[in-house]
Amino acid sequence: MTAATDLEFAGLTALVTGGGAGIGAATIEALRTRGAATAALDLDPSGAPAGAVQIQVDVTDSAAVQAAVDRAAAELGGIDIVINNAGIGAQGQVEANDDAEWARVLDVNVVSVARVTTAALPHLRRSQAAAVVNTASIASMLGLPERVLYSASKGAVQAMTLAMAADWVAEGIRVNAVVPGTANTPWIGRLLEKAEDPAAERAALNARQPHGRLVEPEEVAEAHCYLASPRNRSTTGVLLPIDGGMTSL
Ligand code: NAD
Repeated sequence: MTAATDLEFAGLTALVTGGGAGIGAATIEALRTRGAATAALDLDPSGAPAGAVQIQVDVTDSAAVQAAVDRAAAELGGIDIVINNAGIGAQGQVEANDDAEWARVLDVNVVSVARVTTAALPHLRRSQAAAVVNTASIASMLGLPERVLYSASKGAVQAMTLAMAADWVAEGIRVNAVVPGTANTPWIGRLLEKAEDPAAERAALNARQPHGRLVEPEEVAEAHCYLASPRNRSTTGVLLPIDGGMTSL
């Protein structure tokens, strides 16, 4: 049984982009366990935890995002928390991706953060516990090979996080980011499936982590909750690595 003192999100509402799988689905589960009403905005929201409002949307479609955010606000009764988590990968050195691929990945990973947050802003301004949490990546903090476009996109997410935190600190809207290391989600599962020997590749990936294993999505979800929590009202402009020490040890 959950203790009443653990229901720190009771009475609060959260929308999570990319809430249909991986880190986003784990974050919805963690927020719901602590009392939040939640909505999953996703290309395929059917994998969101039971009880979340499922809204099918492509975060690159401005009109559809506005409609999805309006629907989430109507069904949940407002929006206190926005988790900007939808994202896609991109591989390769700088010459690997053409203009169209740059535009596509930046649209999903960067512009959508502005788009979804802007659509939710009138609701955040009415909230007494407004918080935005973005999902960045250690890819923009390390010189990872073959990740130029993806790293650039997540560096932009970090910069936006700090700039939005500065813009809204006086009006009480907090903005923070989690910075996950390589996490054990369907995304990584899909990458491993492409390897000649997926089990060996997974073992090698585990061995490359300072703590010897991938980060679990539930561990990133805990950080999303910490940064979104109304108990942490002095926490803004934070980029919080959840990476087993990859960026610091
Ligand atoms: P995932 O692929 O397992 O899940 C991502 C979800 O986002 C999916 O449900 C997908 O349908 C949704 N999505 C993708 N594009 C969308 C779009 N245009 N509109 C709406 N929904 C869309 O990924 P994940 O590993 O859980 O990653 C979540 C976030 O964490 C991403 O921003 C990713 O960059 C970041 N991240 C992941 C890792 C990792 O190793 N898995 C590491 C660092 C950061």
